[in-house]
Amino acid sequence: MVKIDRVLVVGGGIGGMSAAIALAQAGYAVELVEADPEWRVLGAGLTVLGSTLRALSHLGVLEEVERQGYFARGNDIYSFKGNLLFQRPGMRMPDAPDLPSGGGILRPVLHTILSQRVKQENITVRLGLHHTHLEEKGDAVRVTFSDGSEGRYGLIIAADGVQSSVRRQLFPDAPVPTFTGQGCWRLVVDRPADIVRSSFYVGGPVTVGVVPVSQQQMYVWVLEHVPDNPWVDPTTQHEQVRELLKDFGGGVAKIRDDLNPASIIVYRPLEAVLMPSPWCLGRVLLTGDAAHATTPHLASGAGLAIEDGVVIAQELCRAETVEEALAAFMERRFDRCRLVVENSIEIGRVEMAHQPDRINEIMNVSQEAIAQPF
Ligand SMILES: Cc1cc2nc3c(=O)[nH]c(=O)nc-3n(C[C@H](O)[C@H](O)[C@H](O)COP(=O)(O)OP(=O)(O)OC[C@H]3O[C@@H](n4cnc5c(N)ncnc54)[C@H](O)[C@@H]3O)c2cc1C
Repeated sequence: MVKIDRVLVVGGGIGGMSAAIALAQAGYAVELVEADPEWRVLGAGLTVLGSTLRALSHLGVLEEVERQGYFARGNDIYSFKGNLLFQRPGMRMPDAPDLPSGGGILRPVLHTILSQRVKQENITVRLGLHHTHLEEKGDAVRVTFSDGSEGRYGLIIAADGVQSSVRRQLFPDAPVPTFTGQGCWRLVVDRPADIVRSSFYVGGPVTVGVVPVSQQQMYVWVLEHVPDNPWVDPTTQHEQVRELLKDFGGGVAKIRDDLNPASIIVYRPLEAVLMPSPWCLGRVLLTGDAAHATTPHLASGAGLAIEDGVVIAQELCRAETVEEALAAFMERRFDRCRLVVENSIEIGRVEMAHQPDRINEIMNVSQEAIAQPF
């Protein structure tokens, strides 16, 4: 096991919290800094694939996630008019065959589960703080924070999201996040009793996913082709979504008809970035969206961010030096994350080109790969 006095995790999102928990459980002293003083979470729901559940099981929160989310086996594919086209069996992991193939959870619920576990693991959390300077000296990185305080850490995990300032500072020539041509509308609505697993509505002007996230609620996503990346007026979002769904039938028609000014709707243009290997410089490692932000087409961005945290903790326990652990981490992570980012972008591209058969093909190959042990 690599000896490290203290690890600093930058960013308290899904990726940062997962790394912090995994490292603390491995026996490391961990400090986490989060820029948002209120440690809020943006977004609505989250699709949680079986592979993501498997990663969460390594953090000891599987039971709580299953209890507070909504999980099932398989999913249904409908035409946008509401006719059932076919059913998918869903993902089955060879190393965790008994887990559900997937489901969903509200983002704030997952955030609470993970942040409570962070507290239980005695991780020091400092909110409303970011680093202003990082400097590697010998076997430690000296960090200056925005409140003037300083610290020395044997390893830094930078999980500061798609716009990572650590990535910009340490890798000024790294690729920058690129808009992919689509925007994603996310809604939280009541779950009718007859919607018992995730369903997708294809072949229409937009693609729609309906994902139960609890006994009471569902998360609905709507993917729109918006080549010129327009500004979206937040006061008329419900009207814009209603217009996008005007030709839909089946379960989506009811969701559309119920939209009103108080509906919970979040819009976000999609962007992606993949850092070339390695994602580390000296003793600073980028994880999660900071290293590999993907579009949601394979519903795996959060899953990968969680896996990153589990893997770095495992490799630190196996290795003798930080360098060895980081090299082993990259060996296990790069191809897997690249597949998800590249195939997600490709699914978006063929969706925009209206090639539904190709979507299935890429989806099947990708899910098969993601189901494999990480
Ligand atoms: C529209 C959309 C839908 C998605 N749907 C899914 C899905 O269904 N399933 C799925 O698995 N994935 C999904 N994803 C991907 C998933 O949301 C991300 O991959 C995941 O949230 C990444 O987590 P992260 O911790 O790396 O980054 P983030 O969640 O961005 O967290 C970064 C954290 O760092 C903090 N921070 C930033 N800068 C600093 C700093 N300098 N110092 C300290 N703190 C800092 C931020 O405040 C934030 O809390 C979706 C993404 C999008 C855009």
